[in-house]
Amino acid sequence: MKTPKVADIVGIINKIAPPELAEAWDNPGLQIGDPGAEVTRVMVALDPSPDVIDAAITASCQLLVTHHPLIFKPLKSISAANPHGASIHKAIRGGVSIVTLHTNYDIAVGGLNDVLARKIGLSDSVPLRITSSAELVKLVAFVPVDHLEQVRSALFPFAATEGNYRDCSFAAGGTGTYTPLEGAEPFSGTVGVLSKVPEERLELLIAAAEVSRVVKALLTVHPYQEPAFDLYPLINKGAQRGLGRIGRLSESLTLSEYADRLRTILSAPALRYVGDPHATISKVALCSGSGASLLHDAARGGADVLVTGDVKYHEARDAEDCGLALIDAGHYPTEIIMVHAMAERLGRAFAAAGYAECAVLECRAEADPFRI
Ligand SMILES: [Zn+2]
Repeated sequence: MKTPKVADIVGIINKIAPPELAEAWDNPGLQIGDPGAEVTRVMVALDPSPDVIDAAITASCQLLVTHHPLIFKPLKSISAANPHGASIHKAIRGGVSIVTLHTNYDIAVGGLNDVLARKIGLSDSVPLRITSSAELVKLVAFVPVDHLEQVRSALFPFAATEGNYRDCSFAAGGTGTYTPLEGAEPFSGTVGVLSKVPEERLELLIAAAEVSRVVKALLTVHPYQEPAFDLYPLINKGAQRGLGRIGRLSESLTLSEYADRLRTILSAPALRYVGDPHATISKVALCSGSGASLLHDAARGGADVLVTGDVKYHEARDAEDCGLALIDAGHYPTEIIMVHAMAERLGRAFAAAGYAECAVLECRAEADPFRI
């Protein structure tokens, strides 16, 4: 049995919700704790509230993973005399490290917005507002024919995924030439004699951010003393990531029917909606938490309704003016679903990493602060 450290679990979380996806104003990551501390029990919750930190301490958890950050704006003091400082003191005294997710988990593939999209019946959903597109580079390497498989499999981990496909590459045969000079120790051929060698031209798309790692891997696995390779910048972009989702329902419903259905699915005590109750709903946009700022993206995308939380009066009026229906299902009901989803993801990731003995608990100490 391997016992993970806080840093190991942060590494796993960074794969699920890459921090570089977060909005510039956000503050995800390890907020409190010692990266070297061992962890045998993890708790997942929406908010790092005092009740939740108490629950983590009572359940003997050494790590609390929350969606909302505990530390968001820069702090001028950490005094236990104010509620925020008291929470920080409580976590440190209780030996609980805190890692937070937030917009990186909203945006990530398989993250909160994808969880919400599945839950409210959308299929083939795509980001509603694009926030980043991966820069791509084409790597072309010239490889002696009998080393093609070895080099290709060493480079596959760096190949960009294309839709639902990985390990994408292309190879075509040709003839490479070279004359080894004095002092060379050629893999094949003789110093001073022109060599003509059957080679494969191997091509892969890779993320620009991976260039130095992929070149290192190529130089390690390629048999030549001076491997020949080219890196081409590309105009085409890689996978797009973004806020919110837009997709279709498997069957059309009226707005009032869909609102009723969402109230049940999200266990919301009540929800508010804007628009004609008899309007037909088939294309749905969503953004977990506070997403009314995406209403124009939803209207431009041809959505019949935007499902989100925290809708203000003037945003409701704005939606009416755009002819877009809105369902305000609440911040808490559209986000509390991350607790179960994230606990499951962590459980699977721990098993795959050999940390199966590290328990993952779903916090039961939370409730929507709004009552009806
Ligand atoms: Zn939120």
